[in-house]
Amino acid sequence: MIFTVAIDGPAAAGKGTIGRAVADRFGFRHLDTGLLYRAVAVAGGDPVEAARHLTPEDLQRGDLRTLEAGRAASRVAALPEVRAALVDFQRRVARSEGGAVLDGRDIGTVICPEAEVKLFVTASPEVRAHRRWLEVGGDAGRVLAEVKERDARDMERADAPLQAAWDAVVIDTSAMGTDEAVEAACAVVARRFAKRT
Ligand code: C5P
Repeated sequence: MIFTVAIDGPAAAGKGTIGRAVADRFGFRHLDTGLLYRAVAVAGGDPVEAARHLTPEDLQRGDLRTLEAGRAASRVAALPEVRAALVDFQRRVARSEGGAVLDGRDIGTVICPEAEVKLFVTASPEVRAHRRWLEVGGDAGRVLAEVKERDARDMERADAPLQAAWDAVVIDTSAMGTDEAVEAACAVVARRFAKRT
């Protein structure tokens, strides 16, 4: 059974939490595609070469989740050669037997336009910055500026910019708790899954 759930949206909107929960609930694989770009960014050297030779161990590094790695990732993610080097791996996971959930920025638009379910998970910049600040602390104003800067870079790049696929279901988590957001996503997946099987 091939069944892909594509989850796109800006940083700290809740994609990862929702993606993991949907994968657990339905017994699908889960791939956080942001980790690929983060691993390329922290590898050092030529990012295109790093993307071409990425290994599973590179995705296990302990320093991938920092603000700095996120910022660096959004820079290397603007390079078309880096994106091209990561496409096949993501497509293979997306269409692998047993179902898969991928979260990122371009999953429903570029990596897997044929995905059975497309979700666009978003929230206001202020709410997302507050969530990030709870995780990383520091100066709240700076965290908000970082969130806005990363949004702009991800939305304005020429290659695979962050945008909702025309057929995505939008889930705005600004006023939702985690459970409510997870249930909203699972309800969409369950409806499509029931139709398909
Ligand atoms: O989701 P996360 O914050 O880990 O992603 C880090 C950066 O990687 C994003 O800001 C974005 O520039 C890039 N990215 C991307 N396409 C994806 C996933 C992440 O361009 N599918």
